[in-house]
Amino acid sequence: MFIEKESLGILHEAIRYLEQGFQELPEFSHVVDTDALSKILSEVAKKMQDNYPYPHPLYIGQMMKPPHPIARLAYTLALWINPNNHALDGGRASSVMEKEAVAELARMFGWETHLGHLCSGGTMANLEATWVAGSLRPGKKVIASQHAHYTHERICGVLGLPFEAVSCDSKACMDLTALKALLRKGDVGTVVVTIGTTASGSIDPLPEILKLQAQYEFRIHADAAYGGYFILVDNLSPEALSTFQHIKEVDSIVIDPHKHGLQPYGCGCVLFKDPTVGRYYKHNSPYTYFSSDELHLGEISLECSRPGAAAVALWATQQLLPYVSGGKFASDLSKSRKAAITFFEMLKNDSRFMTPLAPELDIVVWAPKAKNAREISRLSKAIFEAAAAENLHLAMANLPRSLFIESEEEIQWDQDDVTCLRSCLMKPEHLDWIGHIWQVLNRAAYTVLNK
Ligand SMILES: *Cc1c(COP(=O)(O)O)cnc(C)c1O
Repeated sequence: MFIEKESLGILHEAIRYLEQGFQELPEFSHVVDTDALSKILSEVAKKMQDNYPYPHPLYIGQMMKPPHPIARLAYTLALWINPNNHALDGGRASSVMEKEAVAELARMFGWETHLGHLCSGGTMANLEATWVAGSLRPGKKVIASQHAHYTHERICGVLGLPFEAVSCDSKACMDLTALKALLRKGDVGTVVVTIGTTASGSIDPLPEILKLQAQYEFRIHADAAYGGYFILVDNLSPEALSTFQHIKEVDSIVIDPHKHGLQPYGCGCVLFKDPTVGRYYKHNSPYTYFSSDELHLGEISLECSRPGAAAVALWATQQLLPYVSGGKFASDLSKSRKAAITFFEMLKNDSRFMTPLAPELDIVVWAPKAKNAREISRLSKAIFEAAAAENLHLAMANLPRSLFIESEEEIQWDQDDVTCLRSCLMKPEHLDWIGHIWQVLNRAAYTVLNK
């Protein structure tokens, strides 16, 4: 069974239960032309067949993880009300659920008090954190590593804040010497620390960066959009572990429940350690904040209308799978990490491949060996295609020469970067499937490399 359908039956039941809460309303019935709906829905299903099979364990490409059935069901159930978490008038119950779900995320990082909310994703969440950072440090620079998400530079462009990239070491982590050189200039207001880069899952050295705060005055924003949930796993490297142990000392954190939190897209989260930054959001809405003196989430969010359904889905998922170390949510995430470690070892021990970076999370990057960067890139693309033809779906990433400095391979650098293969092993099932995955990759590599 490729698509899980068993859980669908309970949706009908829950919708009837939901309706019981509105029993005193006068009868109002809907006219639905089910034949017309059914015809179009089949057309939609046909069109949706033109996708990679993201929920299947043989999809090990981009950051794609299926939402948990409870998230899908709760989201869909909420759509019959379609609450808007801008103001309590538009989404009373779902706003309470959002506050609880966000507090749960903050607690996971060790914050008992915080200010935060859900938003459309990591981009919007980082925009809000950078906007607040820029308001607190007007005119000062925002800096992030050269491997940070491209969004940081663009966000600074949008906000009119000066931005500079910090060079990385051969492990794709922010280089401390380069960081210090920038801090010495005295114009840095905010350092963005990436906790899990998008290309390779690399983690900037937060403990050392925190120590620099004693000497240089700056704010720290943690972009943990991808990596945040790994705070719960039990099989991190000592360096990664130490970064997560210190994460509560930063000023703001971004995490994407739609990446590793089992949520449908449209669920990012921004958290601030100091709740008083809410003052920057202060505005008067002439229409919406009348029904209650309690906090309306629109008062602390840049986006106005926001899907209450996203909050309902996240809340429901947290009830089923609480964020506790040793729990089911955490152990499933540890399995993803274990799958990545296993896959990395297999690649490392195979003389056809090179592995420039040991995985810090569950992302593995590797490339076929060849004499020059152009040929490596060509072979990576050929293996990508040969694997896809056998239903094993990988991704690719362009990595700079600097990540190969410590590699023992003699590579002629006829171009500055090289296309590598990349796999996000985000599903816990990947651990059981790694043998199967390896067989298919082995065959695909054989057809390409033995030509
Ligand atoms: C995915 C990601 C983003 C962007 O988040 P979206 O949800 O895609 O908007 C930002 N930073 C990092 C580190 C990411 O992995």
